Amino acid sequence: MDHLPTDAVQWDNHDVATEAARRRSFAIIAHPDAGKTTLTEKLLLKGGAIQLAGQVRAKGNRRRTRSDWMKIEQDRGISVATSVMTFERDGLVFNLLDTPGHEDFSEDTYRTLSAVDAAVMVLDAAKGIESQTRKLFEVCRLRDIPIITFINKMDRDGREPLDLIDEIEKTLALDVTPAAWPIGEGRDFLGVYDLLDPALRMLVDGGDNHIRLSGLDDPALDGLLSPGGVATLREQAGLVEAGCPAFDSDQFLQGTMTPVFFGSALRDFGVGHLLDGLARLAPPPRPRPADTRMVVPGEANLTGFVFKVQANMDPNHRDRVAFLRICSGRLEKGMRLTQVRTGKHVPVNAPLFFFAKERQVAEEAWPGDVVGIANHGTLRIGDTLTEGEALNFRGVPSFAPEHLRRARLDDPMLAKKLKKALEQLADEGVVQLFKPLDGSAPVVGVFGLLQLDVLTSRLKVEYGIPLGFEVTQWDQLRWIASDDRDAMARFTRAHINDLAEDHDGEIVALFASNWRRQRMEEEWKAIRFHTVREQH
Ligand code: GDP
Repeated sequence: MDHLPTDAVQWDNHDVATEAARRRSFAIIAHPDAGKTTLTEKLLLKGGAIQLAGQVRAKGNRRRTRSDWMKIEQDRGISVATSVMTFERDGLVFNLLDTPGHEDFSEDTYRTLSAVDAAVMVLDAAKGIESQTRKLFEVCRLRDIPIITFINKMDRDGREPLDLIDEIEKTLALDVTPAAWPIGEGRDFLGVYDLLDPALRMLVDGGDNHIRLSGLDDPALDGLLSPGGVATLREQAGLVEAGCPAFDSDQFLQGTMTPVFFGSALRDFGVGHLLDGLARLAPPPRPRPADTRMVVPGEANLTGFVFKVQANMDPNHRDRVAFLRICSGRLEKGMRLTQVRTGKHVPVNAPLFFFAKERQVAEEAWPGDVVGIANHGTLRIGDTLTEGEALNFRGVPSFAPEHLRRARLDDPMLAKKLKKALEQLADEGVVQLFKPLDGSAPVVGVFGLLQLDVLTSRLKVEYGIPLGFEVTQWDQLRWIASDDRDAMARFTRAHINDLAEDHDGEIVALFASNWRRQRMEEEWKAIRFHTVREQH
């Protein structure tokens, strides 16, 4: 860029920075059944991305009929694939990265969380924090992702709001600041009092009625609620204002404080308020660490990383779509990007945008956006793409799988084909693949056994390989590392029959049992045994 006049460069950067500043990229984390799908539909409706609620599902159903492995989703009523939904509201561009709800596919969710700038945590008012909420929250914490809480199903009898707030505070060790206070509950739920921007938001058919107030003392309040209702609200909201910490932007951005919104996704109540909260509180793309330096979104040159790869929905085409999260610069249709891992050039002739309705080819995209890049298997999860600069983003994680299996192939003639197919599916992140150093057949690692069903089904339908799985002599694995090269060499010599390479050539140690692993960890103090590996 040196040859350009300074003002041109500045203008260029300014443009990128302005576009980045109006992006809000987020995911919804929730325990199954808390209302994530319903909330997604309502958010998209608010943004005008879809005409009718219900289309998120309807579209899913249409798509799912296309191939057998998608049929698994349909049969079991779960969503395997992650999609991205973009909508605009009040001049802001929201990118909602959807995540599979079923815990067998949690690795996919973890990767998606590496690509967002904020998360909405949906709780069922009757249930509070559930097991999956907790797990997903832990990943957000690992990455300091700011979290906005939405307590859903307020139209049904639930737990006391203060009790829920207390639970969030205690079990997640977060400071909690209510953004609103509910008025009534269950059948008598009338709406909320907005604590951040004084107003009543009353539940009416088809949404909420927004009435501005000067504060809890506003006399107008007396004409809007019953005398008992006003007294209770003044007392409770007054206590909350005095007793809960005030919203602190720094704390929120560091992921140590969560504002709490209340609503009913089903009744379309509180969704607009939540969206206002996302617009006002959630951050635009922030500087992101790479191995060589910090990358600032407003930089003129494009950088981004692949957090998901998905096989084409159409089984007649072998192409895959790599989902690229843009971290800096402007992506323009027709650009040639560099895949840093290999130095190869990747043409981006038709970057795809994912609207709720359909895919569209994007002319350009900006930091915070996610675009799909069709390719024939070049791009892998964790890949960094740049305009030539050699830098790698860290942070697309791999987790030690819970189950290890070996493929049982009846027809040995298919062994070579199977190897290739497994590699392709590992590139997509469908399963993890480990090659034992003793040369024996590869080991497949999954989080949940449902992943094996998907794998079996895809191998059969897409590659024509029928097979089953059997348990291996190993039960667990850990990535190993050490600063002590001698210790590492001794360890590998001693355990050569229990070592494997992962998909990127990193070494893992395999253990027959939890007990064996603990023994080994005690015996080899100089070796670090990791359950998480950040891909690069
Ligand atoms: P997900 O599994 O988190 O995606 O949850 P869904 O959005 O599919 O919702 C699970 C169930 O809860 C469905 O039967 C929804 O109709 C219902 N539901 C979602 N939001 C609300 C709400 O605000 N109030 C009530 N009463 N039911 C809701």
